[in-house]
Amino acid sequence: MPNLASVVGEIAQRMTARDERGKVASYIPELAKVPIDQFGIAVFTADGETIVAGDAEVPFSIQSISKVFTLTLALGKVGDQLWTRVGREPSGNPFNSIVQLEYEKGKPRNPFINAGAIAVTDVLLAGHEPREVLGEILRFCRFVAEDDSVAIDEHVARSEKQTGFLNTALANYMKAFKVLENPVDHALGVYFHHCSITMSCRQLAMAGRYLAFSGRLPGKDVSVISSERARRINALMLTCGHYDGSGDFAFRVGLPGKSGVGGGILAVAPGEASIAVWSPGLDPHGNSVLGSLALEHLAKAMRWSVFGD
Ligand code: GLN
Repeated sequence: MPNLASVVGEIAQRMTARDERGKVASYIPELAKVPIDQFGIAVFTADGETIVAGDAEVPFSIQSISKVFTLTLALGKVGDQLWTRVGREPSGNPFNSIVQLEYEKGKPRNPFINAGAIAVTDVLLAGHEPREVLGEILRFCRFVAEDDSVAIDEHVARSEKQTGFLNTALANYMKAFKVLENPVDHALGVYFHHCSITMSCRQLAMAGRYLAFSGRLPGKDVSVISSERARRINALMLTCGHYDGSGDFAFRVGLPGKSGVGGGILAVAPGEASIAVWSPGLDPHGNSVLGSLALEHLAKAMRWSVFGD
């Protein structure tokens, strides 16, 4: 097996040298300000080491990667009942698409497209004030990252709210079908804020440990969720984590992964590693160009694909 530290270092060098980087998300004005020429990678391994390279300590907006954490919390709260509110099939549509919602009577295809994540947030809101739920999400992120400096970027949250016309449409649509139980502005307020959580690659790789290691934090006597639940969240990340680019990501990388329009990707090599990559330039599906490429190289070099070596 090749040496992980040299593989990671080499990937960072190769990525940094590339010109083909896609485009920074511009529909959230605050994200459009992020310089494109950045690349970071962090790999947390089974023996408790974190190997980093490039801009691995720079905080970025985790955006839709936060949907993994809200899904974890909602499953903890209502268990399999969640699936009466949200499906678990890939959508084959862009993350902010509304077309399927009409055909499927307001029930979103999966928890990772925007409509699904807003419905998951609504589940977390039951019996709580938005502020309490946001506190719960942030506490969970800090707990799994083992880092109390994980925070919400209020500028990004405000920017999302000001330009969140599509998300507002999705939420209203679901409200009309009674898929949302709480006020639309509560669900959206919490959603915009959890998308605006910032983490560095190092923090995000730490936060993903429970998914890579059967629900547990390796080296510690801490069980975050059951191994069955971790396995299922990983299955959803593999099939739905990159929207209408999920099939291509599985084909090229072969790992469960969740992307965000901030340019981050959290990927899971079960039993081997929790991996975070970040580069703000996106492909047309909203997935990081260099992030996906870096994971493709890493999974190949380390023979980590869940489909075999
Ligand atoms: N906050 C973003 C949105 O709602 C999240 C999208 C993403 O990361 N794919 O549009």
